[in-house]
Amino acid sequence: MLAKVDMDKIVSLCKRRGFVFPSSDIYGGLGSCWDYGPMGAELKRNVKDAWWKAVVHERDDVVGLDTSIMMHPKVWVASGHVDGFTDPLVDCKSCHLRWRADELDTQRCPKCGGELTEPRMFNLMFRTFMGPLEEEASTVYLRPETAQGIFVNFENVVTTSRKKLPLGIAQIGKSFRNEITTGNFIFRTREFEQCELEYFVKPGTDEQWLNYWIQERFNWYVKLGVKKENLRLRQHGKDELAHYAKDCYDIDYLFPMGWSELEGIANRGDFDLTQHARASGKELTYYDAEANEKYVPYVIEPSGGVDRSVLAFLIDAYDEEEIEGEKRTVLHLNPALAPIKVAVLPLSRNEKLTPLAKEVNKRLCSSFVTDYDDSQSIGRRYRRQDEIGTPFCVTVDFQSLEDNQVTIRDRDSLAQIRVPVTELNAILEAKLKGEAFDASDLWATRQK
Ligand code: ATP
Repeated sequence: MLAKVDMDKIVSLCKRRGFVFPSSDIYGGLGSCWDYGPMGAELKRNVKDAWWKAVVHERDDVVGLDTSIMMHPKVWVASGHVDGFTDPLVDCKSCHLRWRADELDTQRCPKCGGELTEPRMFNLMFRTFMGPLEEEASTVYLRPETAQGIFVNFENVVTTSRKKLPLGIAQIGKSFRNEITTGNFIFRTREFEQCELEYFVKPGTDEQWLNYWIQERFNWYVKLGVKKENLRLRQHGKDELAHYAKDCYDIDYLFPMGWSELEGIANRGDFDLTQHARASGKELTYYDAEANEKYVPYVIEPSGGVDRSVLAFLIDAYDEEEIEGEKRTVLHLNPALAPIKVAVLPLSRNEKLTPLAKEVNKRLCSSFVTDYDDSQSIGRRYRRQDEIGTPFCVTVDFQSLEDNQVTIRDRDSLAQIRVPVTELNAILEAKLKGEAFDASDLWATRQK
């Protein structure tokens, strides 16, 4: 089974409409690094906000955290990353390309057929030096995951938040991995953003919480519009489990290159707190007043990639449709994710229309992210808004000057309703929250 859209179309739309550009574009780009343009920055921010809202703000058992990218080097020894965060790498003796041995199903170089070296382990952490001395003692790493910043702050958060277990600590931030094989656009890059939750629970309740978080996270994607048939859950086999994991499930998405991981949900047991307690000499336990006992909590970790989610949302929303003989490309993005919520479009750039259109935009822009556009034909402007996934376009025409009413056009059904400017904010707010958009539900009709 393959996704209905190929990656080239998504890459091209992203470049054309300002979602994602190659990094350092004017210098020819930098391998696997991408910049988010005006539309992409909004979309990515909306994805992160939706995650934070669901995981932190709408719950009373999770708090947020924002920790530094560079941490004490001992953190990465204790976490197992210095010794174990490696991939087996082989080099082609002819063309010198590098490959991940565990991803190859041939003994020869896939590019040129050349002979390959024996596999050697390659650590994926980026290393740099802190301070002016470039020596071993000042080595620091760019974090390969945000999770460790949470574990080392467990004690700080528990004592300051005055919360009881189960307690989650959430973080969104950049991570870095010197991946051997990158590609598939923003799916696998060397610099990316993660949204991670470490949910600390009483040992013995961990399996139940693992199941709970699998459901929560799966439903989050569905609620934000990803089609269920494009998502699947996959349990890791025993040979596949990471060194810290008791059990792990992936939420996979049907990307154009096939089913691939969107998010992992792992039962990390007490591995991390135990390791950090041992390495730091600090006791990392929890006193459970109700049970009158002290224990090392177990951790359930939903760990997702922001960039991968952005890609999945884009692919899932992408559609090419034919409407009355005309083709259009449209992103059926959930309004919560759409970069622009409302476009204000005067029918034409006419000096009589401009003042009212500007006034309408002013009324809206403090409540919604709007885009004012009066260039080119109205048809082309609608097509542009469809391609960036704007749920509603508000059109100001000559009739508006007489009756102070404007037309709202719905991106998905293409239905239009005419409403008084004074009611516009309230109506759009309701529609953006999902109120049905019914063309027969004309304001004028209701008034009669
Ligand atoms: P993969 O098997 O695809 O390399 P992983 O199992 O190593 O991923 P985790 O360590 O579980 O990934 O990281 C959690 C999440 O972070 C992943 O589900 C993914 O969404 C995101 N992620 C990990 N590596 C990358 C990367 N190189 N580029 C973009 N996102 C990534």
